[in-house]
Amino acid sequence: MTHRIVVLGGGYAGVIAARRLADRLADRLADRLPDRAKAAVTLVNASDRFVERVRLHQLAAGQNLRDIPLRDVLKGVRLVVARATAIDLETRAVRTDDGQEIPYDTLVYTLGSRGGTAGVPGVAEHAFRIADHDGARALRRRLADLRQGAVAVVGGGLTGIETVTELAESRPDLDVELITEGAAGDWLAPRARAHLRRVFDRLGVRVRENGEVAKVADGEVLLGDGQAVRYDAIAWAAGFEMSPLAAEAGLAVDADGRVLVDATLRSVSHPDVYAAGDAAALEDGATRLSCQAAIPMGFQAAENVAARLDGRAPRRFRLRYVGQCVSLGRRDALFQLTRTDDTPIRAVLAGRAVVPLKETVVRSTVMALSRPALTKAIGTNASRR
Ligand SMILES: Cc1cc2nc3c(=O)[nH]c(=O)nc-3n(C[C@H](O)[C@H](O)[C@H](O)COP(=O)(O)OP(=O)(O)OC[C@H]3O[C@@H](n4cnc5c(N)ncnc54)[C@H](O)[C@@H]3O)c2cc1C
Repeated sequence: MTHRIVVLGGGYAGVIAARRLADRLADRLADRLPDRAKAAVTLVNASDRFVERVRLHQLAAGQNLRDIPLRDVLKGVRLVVARATAIDLETRAVRTDDGQEIPYDTLVYTLGSRGGTAGVPGVAEHAFRIADHDGARALRRRLADLRQGAVAVVGGGLTGIETVTELAESRPDLDVELITEGAAGDWLAPRARAHLRRVFDRLGVRVRENGEVAKVADGEVLLGDGQAVRYDAIAWAAGFEMSPLAAEAGLAVDADGRVLVDATLRSVSHPDVYAAGDAAALEDGATRLSCQAAIPMGFQAAENVAARLDGRAPRRFRLRYVGQCVSLGRRDALFQLTRTDDTPIRAVLAGRAVVPLKETVVRSTVMALSRPALTKAIGTNASRR
């Protein structure tokens, strides 16, 4: 009997997992061990293209991203291009919007995240969600139509900072404003914050700190203090949300809808399900929504699925963060070094010299897709139980 492995979601975690599994299975066949069951890997993804989410702010700013057909990176993996609509954990099958029912023996859940609304009314209708491919593309079209005008970027986290600097640099004709609940980048070391302020000044980014957004209307942001501010475009970078599929299926999830997994990345409620990337939360503390976590998680989930098939002991997933590398337009960047638990230390690299480092990090995430073994160098540190 062939063991059917279905990887659900072809982002950073899913592609790495599928590729690594295919490589592992090829190794097993090469061993020609007669007692080993055959296995096959299928990846289900909504698109036949890989979306480089970490560059969506560049896409919105009018840059053209590399076209990456998933088939080019998925050697040894069957690709099903369809949107999953349900998971049946009883019969072990994934249902899709085009009527397919895809059976699995092991499911690797890597549906990632999408731009959230943070519960603010009007965001879905009147703001461009930068964390989604469609949202970034729609913002790009809106900006292309604008000659002068005001643009708001809501959210002072990494995505908001990367977006506001990218837009301000590429569109000096626009008034670009960052609206943030606290202070922009307030978790960063003082040197990094000081550098951010200098970059905002240089690019003419206005910063509205402590600006809680109560509602978004057509071309208008209503602030918690009752002020209404008009903008020609509102980019939303505050909050991510998860696909409801895991919770709807009955998998154990955390408060955000991320699949709860043990240290081997296996669902705590359903042993035939593994999860990785943004869509997964480790029982003893969720990882930051990032490629830095998604890539090694996808890799380790694949290793543990293969280990289980071969009767080997799985390894515990441990992530050792190294830092937060933030683009500030195409001519500036920031590298905040962190402790292994992701808390910032005083050491910061900043300025033009960091741009090639950021670009190398981003490129290496795509290189890792077709060479999963590279992920070992990206910070994972698996250990035996
Ligand atoms: C603008 C921006 C900049 C960022 N910069 C950085 C950075 O510098 N460094 C960093 O580490 N992280 C960064 N991130 C975060 C990073 O992009 C995410 O953490 C990462 O994409 C998570 O990878 P993933 O594989 O878990 O999910 P995703 O990349 O979200 O992939 C999920 C996949 O599942 C597919 N999918 C979803 N639902 C369905 C369905 N129902 N059926 C079929 N397919 C489905 C999606 O189409 C997608 O292909 C950034 C994010 C944004 C938006």
